[in-house]
Amino acid sequence: MPIFDRRSFLRLGTAGLGAALLTNGAAARAPFLGTQVPAFHRFMIGSTEATVVSDGPLPLGKPAASFNGFAAGEITQLLQGNFLPTDDIVLEQNILVLNTGDKLIVFDTGVGTSTMFGPSPGKLPTTLVKAGIQPRDVDAIVLSHAHPDHCGGLVDADGRAVFPNAQVYISSADFNFWTDEAKLGSQLKPFIQIARRNLLHLRDRVVFYADGQEFLPGVQALAAPGHTVGHTMFMITSGSETFCYAADLAHHYVLLLENPRGEFVYDTDAKQAASTRARLLDMLAYDRIRLMGYHFPWPGVGHVVRHGEGFHYIAQPVKTVL
Ligand SMILES: [Zn+2]
Repeated sequence: MPIFDRRSFLRLGTAGLGAALLTNGAAARAPFLGTQVPAFHRFMIGSTEATVVSDGPLPLGKPAASFNGFAAGEITQLLQGNFLPTDDIVLEQNILVLNTGDKLIVFDTGVGTSTMFGPSPGKLPTTLVKAGIQPRDVDAIVLSHAHPDHCGGLVDADGRAVFPNAQVYISSADFNFWTDEAKLGSQLKPFIQIARRNLLHLRDRVVFYADGQEFLPGVQALAAPGHTVGHTMFMITSGSETFCYAADLAHHYVLLLENPRGEFVYDTDAKQAASTRARLLDMLAYDRIRLMGYHFPWPGVGHVVRHGEGFHYIAQPVKTVL
């Protein structure tokens, strides 16, 4: 008979473990601390120093409110199979900061002061400083697109630039779409308002990148349309490595990777987003390119591999020493 059969394990989990803890009085009395370590993660891309900082999580609630295009029961099955809650989707917001030695570049800015997603996001100004990076030292803000969780952190509550010395890079397609006054009368109004508030204030600092252009040293734009008209990801090359900041190519690391044809309700053109996702994930898997997803589990750095009809995300182990 095995020493540790299922029944004895279950007993240990209740009576056995409880008794063990009670004999150790210190463990029982220590108060819960209720805090997490400062949310930043540092790694190298070639000879460029990269830091991921968190803007805090975005709670989206029930999956049916955010995802379409799945077979009946498929979402629950995928979530359960990955030990995730089936009734509460939470997306992270991982913000990439590159220090090339010459330039300090921040990719996307979180939700800023918007309360659209509740109190958990909007942490970028805090986490950036905790990571040792001062907003005034940032040379460039690169926006993948103009949704509130990406452009919302450009200006503070008083409308002042959070990054006073930075140029702002975005596609002209997204700038024009999301600052369009005519759309204030549509259901997109809350998104349009946030884009206008953040981008129009800084209009004289905005620089448009083009698909395929290396618009900053080692940073090349790669159009990934569908989520928005101008949604773009970035290929970052330093030394022998090319790294992909994939932005919102996939919002969920299980649902939209295992089923890349699934749809996210905030996509401007969900069908185009799905075909873009399938095509570019295939390229990233085939070329074994290390990538980062803005909404992937913290810190969002890893690889994708082909898996069945879709893909599988493999997180890169976090190093505790650089
Ligand atoms: Zn997003």
